[in-house]
Amino acid sequence: ATLVARRAAAWCRWSRAVEVVRGFEEACATPTERLQRVVNSLAVEMFAGLASEGASKVRMLLTCIDALPNGSEEGIYYVIDLGGTSFRVMRLELGSGSMVINKKVEHQPIPEKLTKGTSEDLFDLIASALKNFIDREGGKDVGMTLGFTFSFPVRQASISSGSLIRWTKEFSIEETVGKDVAQCLNEALARNGVNLQVTALVNNAVGTLAMGHYYDEDTVAAVIIGAGTNASYIERSAAITKCQGLLTNSDLTVVNVEWGSFRPPQIPLTPYDICFNNYVKCNQYDQAFEKMISGVYLGEIARAVLQRMAQESDVFGTSVNCLSTPFIFSTPCLAAIREDDSPDLIVVSRVLKEHLKIQDVPLKTRRLVVRVCDIVTRRAARLAAAGIVAVLQKTGRDGTLCGTTKVRKIRGGEPKRSVVAIEGGLYQGYSVFREFLNEAVDEILGDEIASTVCLRLMEEGSGIGAALLAASYSSTRQNSA
Ligand code: BGC
Repeated sequence: ATLVARRAAAWCRWSRAVEVVRGFEEACATPTERLQRVVNSLAVEMFAGLASEGASKVRMLLTCIDALPNGSEEGIYYVIDLGGTSFRVMRLELGSGSMVINKKVEHQPIPEKLTKGTSEDLFDLIASALKNFIDREGGKDVGMTLGFTFSFPVRQASISSGSLIRWTKEFSIEETVGKDVAQCLNEALARNGVNLQVTALVNNAVGTLAMGHYYDEDTVAAVIIGAGTNASYIERSAAITKCQGLLTNSDLTVVNVEWGSFRPPQIPLTPYDICFNNYVKCNQYDQAFEKMISGVYLGEIARAVLQRMAQESDVFGTSVNCLSTPFIFSTPCLAAIREDDSPDLIVVSRVLKEHLKIQDVPLKTRRLVVRVCDIVTRRAARLAAAGIVAVLQKTGRDGTLCGTTKVRKIRGGEPKRSVVAIEGGLYQGYSVFREFLNEAVDEILGDEIASTVCLRLMEEGSGIGAALLAASYSSTRQNSA
């Protein structure tokens, strides 16, 4: 009788763990019809964001870019690319005819304390890295052009300047908010003896769009799915009713959507989505779309679910202390678990042991862990897909009349081919994520229109794109001088 009672109790505890996962799965459901409503809500927010400042959480920032590279750019350019926990310094040699002749890239990690320290320390680190890079390769700085990819929301009044609206992801250096970040870098470059100034200040989504367009003129939008997430696209200037004074005479303007702050009303936030508001003070209760999609957060959401399972049951045994440490379970761990296709889930065992110090997890529990990682990934990828379709809808490339669901072929004839350039480690390095995303884009658009949409990976797009924009804008400047 004791054995039976023990088995019944164990079964009961196991069921509670399964119940946690089932509840989470239900809350994360994204059936096609719900995604379509997410698309419409984001498109509406985008309209509002273009109409007037502050009318929407989706900022729709103007970039002062009214022409994209076309392949004629030439010369040698330096780039600083800052956006995540590391930054890149790049030297690019461009030849006409869309040719990157030479590329040299160096990655440097940013110590965590510098992401929360002072503006001067952060920009000095970057400036001195650029100085060493130029010195090491025996290059020169005088007369050279510098592109600065800065992957945070910035209000721009010119291509070479812009004030920081707020930090996102893991950064929070209060004193930089409101400052011109190009000037911060220029001052640091001067302090560090580098004779260069920022020619083009570019968001990474905008850089990726520029690179996409450089290779393929059908590129209408770009999306970042990495540590953070965002999109940019080419808008008709006439559709931008706010800040008309800022726009040039060009018919087109590149808009930085900043979709990370979108809060899709159709998707409930689970307790696991909001738990990090207790310990991540930066953008508390904000950046909902980004927190459900991007690399900084996915592993953490899964960790919170696993922690809950451990609280409700003994599926992970007794030594589960690690599970309560925020951010201990990274998104690459989550990806490794979801992609483990070995019959006995060896990778899952290894990740649980190495990263969470949980040993000897039975196979059926490992399967449950895979399911948690699957749910988190699926929702993220499908929401990103909805975002992509919303941007296509805004450009009129989704086969619908903007804002309505009435299907009609674009311009009454054959649908035009549309390319969306995509960059970011999460999309690039996680094939299951890519599959889910592609599948959801097809589902939402339907096969006919989906066949006209091409999602194209742009490796290093944000940095190379900044060089391209620096190239085209420095020559525009010289020509108009
Ligand atoms: C920032 C965007 C950036 C995105 C991807 C977001 O947190 O607000 O400006 O493009 O991350 O790096």
